[in-house]
Amino acid sequence: MPTWTDKIPADPRGHGLPLLRCPAQTNLEAIVTSVNLIGTETHFWGGHTVPHSPPDCEACERGSSYRWHAYQSCYNPNTQLHFIFECTAYAAAKFAEFRDAHKTLRGCQFVAYRWKRARNGRVIIKCTPTSFNLAALPPAPNLENVMAVIWRLPTPNVWVAGVQRGHPRVHADPNGNGSSTDPREYSTERP
Ligand SMILES: [Zn+2]
Repeated sequence: MPTWTDKIPADPRGHGLPLLRCPAQTNLEAIVTSVNLIGTETHFWGGHTVPHSPPDCEACERGSSYRWHAYQSCYNPNTQLHFIFECTAYAAAKFAEFRDAHKTLRGCQFVAYRWKRARNGRVIIKCTPTSFNLAALPPAPNLENVMAVIWRLPTPNVWVAGVQRGHPRVHADPNGNGSSTDPREYSTERP
């Protein structure tokens, strides 16, 4: 059932933020809106990243290796795009340094580019505290929920389980993973 309201939402797109990686030919510049990042092991599988989902991980069974990726919400004031930025542990280390020095990632302005502008070139990150009015930044979404929507996971099956390499580790339960393309069909019960 839809929930109707006459209140105009500040963030009309809810959890449906697009997922972006660092492009090869151009810089990506944005300001982090989340206070922290989250990460988990992922496979590049079927043309996009999907969470490594033990114990019955289909990508593992087909011989695909997994790799840890970090996710954080970011905003570009020029395009007004609020999005999720995906990066490797190597790149995320720069964000972790900023987070630890400033006690938050929110307001971290960064430039990301790829070494030698190569498609698979290592992503270089340069962080600086933003001069942009923090109160004018969009509120941070719930990152676990956003990733559950992006990965079409049943939201209650995703939670933070411990810490890995200094970052919260998202645990994605495989039960129901990929079984439905319609978020309305997700189970509401945690297994
Ligand atoms: Zn796997």
